Amino acid sequence: MTVQSFVPTFADRHIGARRQYHIDTMLKAVGYDTVDGLVGSAVPDSIRQESPLGLDNALSEVQVLAELRRLAGRNKTAVQMIGQGYYDTVTPAVIRRNILEAPAWYTAYTPYQPEISQGRLEALLNFQTMVQDLTALPVANASLLDEATAVAEAVLLMRRANKNKAVKDGKTVLDADCLPQTIAIVLGRAEALGFEVEVADLSQGLPEGDINGVVLQQPGVSGRVWDQTSVIAEAKERGALVTVAADLLALTLITPPGEQGADVAVGSTQRLGVPLFFGGPHAAYMAVRDGMERTLPGRIVGVSKDNAGATAYRLALQTREQHIRREKATSNICTAQALLAIVSSFYAVYHGPDGLKAIAQNVHSNTRALATTLKAAGWELTSDSFFDTLTVRVPRDAAKVVSAAESRGINLRLVNADTVGISVDETTTPEILSAVSAAFGAGQVREAAGFELPAAAVRTSEYLQHPVFNTHRSETQLLRYIRRLSDRDLALDRTMIPLGSCTMKLNATAEMEAISWPEFASIHPFAPDSQTEGWRELIDGLEADLAEITGYDQVSIQPNAGSQGELAGLLAIRGYHASRGEGQRNVCLIPASAHGTNAASAVLAGMKVVVVATASDGTIDHGDLRAKIEAHRDALSAIMITYPSTHGVFDADVREVCDAVHEAGGQVYVDGANLNALVGLAQPGKFGGDVSHLNLHKTFCIPHGGGGPGVGPVAAKAHLAPFMPGDANKSAHEAGHGVAISASRFGSAGVLPISWAYVKLMGGQGLTEATKSALLAANYIAARLTEHFPVLYTGESGLVAHECILDLRELTARTGVTAEDVAKRLIDFGFHAPTLSFPVAGTLMVEPTESEDLAEIDRFIEAMVTIRKEMEQVAAGDFTIEESPLRNAPHTAAAVVTSEWERRYPREQGAFPVPSLRQDKYFPPVGRIDGAAGDRNLVCSCPPLTAFED
Ligand SMILES: *Cc1c(COP(=O)(O)O)cnc(C)c1O
Repeated sequence: MTVQSFVPTFADRHIGARRQYHIDTMLKAVGYDTVDGLVGSAVPDSIRQESPLGLDNALSEVQVLAELRRLAGRNKTAVQMIGQGYYDTVTPAVIRRNILEAPAWYTAYTPYQPEISQGRLEALLNFQTMVQDLTALPVANASLLDEATAVAEAVLLMRRANKNKAVKDGKTVLDADCLPQTIAIVLGRAEALGFEVEVADLSQGLPEGDINGVVLQQPGVSGRVWDQTSVIAEAKERGALVTVAADLLALTLITPPGEQGADVAVGSTQRLGVPLFFGGPHAAYMAVRDGMERTLPGRIVGVSKDNAGATAYRLALQTREQHIRREKATSNICTAQALLAIVSSFYAVYHGPDGLKAIAQNVHSNTRALATTLKAAGWELTSDSFFDTLTVRVPRDAAKVVSAAESRGINLRLVNADTVGISVDETTTPEILSAVSAAFGAGQVREAAGFELPAAAVRTSEYLQHPVFNTHRSETQLLRYIRRLSDRDLALDRTMIPLGSCTMKLNATAEMEAISWPEFASIHPFAPDSQTEGWRELIDGLEADLAEITGYDQVSIQPNAGSQGELAGLLAIRGYHASRGEGQRNVCLIPASAHGTNAASAVLAGMKVVVVATASDGTIDHGDLRAKIEAHRDALSAIMITYPSTHGVFDADVREVCDAVHEAGGQVYVDGANLNALVGLAQPGKFGGDVSHLNLHKTFCIPHGGGGPGVGPVAAKAHLAPFMPGDANKSAHEAGHGVAISASRFGSAGVLPISWAYVKLMGGQGLTEATKSALLAANYIAARLTEHFPVLYTGESGLVAHECILDLRELTARTGVTAEDVAKRLIDFGFHAPTLSFPVAGTLMVEPTESEDLAEIDRFIEAMVTIRKEMEQVAAGDFTIEESPLRNAPHTAAAVVTSEWERRYPREQGAFPVPSLRQDKYFPPVGRIDGAAGDRNLVCSCPPLTAFED
């Protein structure tokens, strides 16, 4: 007899409820004997996939890390001097380990619940303050997706904000010295929206004609630094608005856009401590002048007060965003780049204004030394005024010089057959300068002589004077500051985050390991293909696995977030119709319950949004659907549906909906954000979808990072393949591709090893079991809570999918206790709230995911049942709603540790509503925050320290 030992697989660690007696307990509550029986009832037969996923067998963590090592070994690191928007940088180890690689930071959610998000809100406010100071513009947002898409957002912002009748419908003019990927992205967006873009050399002045807005780059892609005041003044005179895409490191030395009269500044903060990551994720920034803040896209952190009058942070002006404004939103961006913005902000905290300036001066003087050397050797520069980048004329021999540098381990930029670009950065050493010089045959590097910046372009104003940028000079101080902020927050490392639609599941450490390995992290997005074989094998493999999982023919991981995947998918549909001579098809049907990004993306794709009503059971109203299809038959472009629906239910009739749209000549977009309910069980590409986006930061384990990064791959059937995202570095339209969606070909490549590892660790069977566990957990919560909070929608079987909506509206009417009160009271139990009032106002949507174990789920149920009892106390008149622990939630330590206590409930009930909290207690740093007050008096930079004195 052999002794069989049980070796747990990764799936056993990823899935929370793995022990049979836990599974049986949950099944019993739902009323099923087996998981397969439950799944068979919940998922309609009409959509079930026939065969299991054809993926490789699961690997162990050790095996996966070995595979990742092998792939890393196929990439070649080099000294990266290609520039073109991406520069090498040193991520200080204290920031890399304690932020980028620290679960307290990377597993946090977007700070919609500000009371449990004060740490990351402060870090993002530091980011905004840094951007405002360096650009000399008063209002910045808390990050955008990448520089090129940020410029596209700026162009659209100018088109919204310019009210000058004579020019508001005029063209947008881009300087020819903008980054080529920026120009490609703007051209692609403009084509969908039907406005004119002209690219011209603006150092010679503006072109003829009506101009809505102008985009300049400082320094230009050629490296040239120039005084832009006169062209900006001319633009203003002619009624145009002006955006300057600027390098923040350069702005420590160069006159900032705000002082030159620009309305908007945008750019990347990558070189402030964020690795190259083969193109992303990196935080883009945008700052605007006074009066434009309400049209600014992206999230803005602002300062307000809590219920005790203490200074507190929260997201400001949220009514501009797609969740509220839908097709009238300022942008479709939802997930942005919070984690990378936080890394950059800490880079500024770490170095301070003097440190940043010293880095910039070093970069500049190294560049001047190289310029002096090359010029002495007879080479010609295209500009004598530069910060970090030289463009050298090398008639006919550019390729030769670039390859001479490559053989010395250095990547330069091959601009064209006659021109080479060289970008110096923080990591450039004298040895590297010598090697570059040698590649040009230019001999010893000389002392910098000449090439000073023109006087008009030299910055004289101060920046980063706030104490936060001048205090944390020792590593001990900085470490404690980082820890202090993260301790103020609740992330997945402390609690379940049961956010419906957001799928806050385990981000396993083994999945995270590879992202900061230099063979992945230090690769430039435009490095030669011979240096990126490992990266491309990983990406091809992941795309193939995602195609197998979704049932589509082709996948592109280029979009930087779900919203960008939506835009890519809708543009593919648009391209497809146009290719068949049906360019008039421009109506996009969107159910009333859809996520706000859907409508906002449809508008960006040049479509007209028509809303389809919801039936009383939560499904699409078929009568209304038929009527809308009929009314728009010839103009019907697409329908966007979410499956399972945003109501957390598997609608049995999804095939009929798809058929009806196809029959009328439309295409079906399936929003794949809820794929966690489908993997291994059903495939959108097989039950009627033509195209979908996925959210790798939901279903496929990329952490939310406090509001990004994300990856939103677009997946499509073969007929849409020719319209999938092209490469912005080639042209807006590459043959056989659609327009580019992100600045770099592989978008946020840097975090793809996480999803790649997840799929390999789980295998087809593990992924399918995860889906089943997610369904079981959601149905268990629904079954246990429905007697306390009615579950709003269920499918035909009486079951929910992977999430459930708890309907509080009747209870609110009876007791006055709102869904928001419940969300805030959950903080006192140490929980992050479920999704509040989406997709139905006055409800909470709960999604436990497969990663939560039964004890944690039961802890949540206990909290909810306890809260329900407090609601009954209000109903019974023990206290009024205003006097209740619900309305006074969350309770800070300061609120309960007082010598006077005059509230109508014991202070124990306030702080320790269940006994287990006596030992493990999270106290929020602030009480309930007044968001509206902060919006009325908008402050979105770091408050002075005196604001925290009482
Ligand atoms: C999260 C989500 C999106 C948007 O994804 P982002 O990555 O935040 O842009 C779209 N649709 C649904 C249903 C979602 O839950």
